[in-house]
Amino acid sequence: MEKIDIKSMNMSELADFIMQLGQPKFRASQIFKWLHSGVTDFDLMSDIKKELRERLKELCYIADVNIVKKLVSKIDGTVKYLYELYDGELIESVLMKYEHGYTVCISTQVGCRMGCSFCASGINGLYRNLTASEMLSQIMAAERDNNIRVSNVVMMGMGEPLDNFDNSVRFLQLVSSDKGMNIGLRHISLSTSGVVSGIEKLKEYNFPITLSISLHAPFDDIRSGMMKVNKKWNIEALLRACREYQAVTTRRISFEYALIEGVNDSTECADRLAMILKGIMCHVNLIPANPVKENSFKKPDRTKILKFQKELIDRGVNATVRRTLGSDIDASCGQLRSRAERRIPCADKQ
Ligand code: SAH
Ligand code: SF4
Repeated sequence: MEKIDIKSMNMSELADFIMQLGQPKFRASQIFKWLHSGVTDFDLMSDIKKELRERLKELCYIADVNIVKKLVSKIDGTVKYLYELYDGELIESVLMKYEHGYTVCISTQVGCRMGCSFCASGINGLYRNLTASEMLSQIMAAERDNNIRVSNVVMMGMGEPLDNFDNSVRFLQLVSSDKGMNIGLRHISLSTSGVVSGIEKLKEYNFPITLSISLHAPFDDIRSGMMKVNKKWNIEALLRACREYQAVTTRRISFEYALIEGVNDSTECADRLAMILKGIMCHVNLIPANPVKENSFKKPDRTKILKFQKELIDRGVNATVRRTLGSDIDASCGQLRSRAERRIPCADKQ
């Protein structure tokens, strides 16, 4: 019998489950509290009777992640984790310290099926979706390892959150629960490559999160060359979905733009970008593209990046250059795992 992923259950599901076991409803609140404080062993739930703990052990498992590798930046203390899941799969998370607290960048899938040309996460395709509990566990493991509380979360690690829609939404509901980790939705960003059907569904939840769109190019031919998803939903369809999303949520949208030399860093691109973003309350995050071993692209030098930023600002766009944290430990997400993968064979996936 497959065991139940109890940490992915919401409060009402847990209450139903506990009552089915012939227990009073308030036990569900106690168990929920333990699970979301990071406890990974039923026996540590000290206010739960042994008999019920034994029953829970028979029926359920508590998701967790194990640190298999940890890199700490000597420059700014950023920590990059390679975590192992119960089935041996590997994912990455990054812990960053800002003035306002700790931010964790979590993965939402093992691998990614979107296949963007510049990204290491998608090189071998999608292995599997992460459960909501595995998303939570990445934050809990970082908190435990550093004895800290995390205040902000970005869903910008490996994987496409809107390609794992239900679990991503469940994660958002659980992580923000005041009976759980209580990380406010306003402190969470979800980044998507532009899965329009997902943006449309997400709009219905009206979460006050920050939606972050990986735009990367203002012309369809350039964007389609970088991102396969643009062939399904082009820039016009994507920006229409963004406008509709904003009409409902009234939240500012963030556009990610990874600058690649000679590809998307021209004045013409800045000009067009400013034009297509007109009427959207937004912020553009310029990221010097991180060279991936498997690809040959280069990031523009600092002067060119600042020139592109100025061109956007001159055209009325609110644009900043992302501060690169942990530049000495490993570049973007997916790279640590793709390196480890060569040492840890996954015979069934190769
Ligand atoms: N799948 C989602 C979220 C994870 S990727 C998405 O694509 O938005 C998180 C961010 O890292 C995205 O903006 C992505 O485009 C960017 N990224 C991926 N590889 C990169 C690289 N080599 N250099 C710079 N940014 C990169
Ligand atoms: Fe997937 Fe995002 Fe990487 Fe594209 S950039 S392959 S969507 S993780």
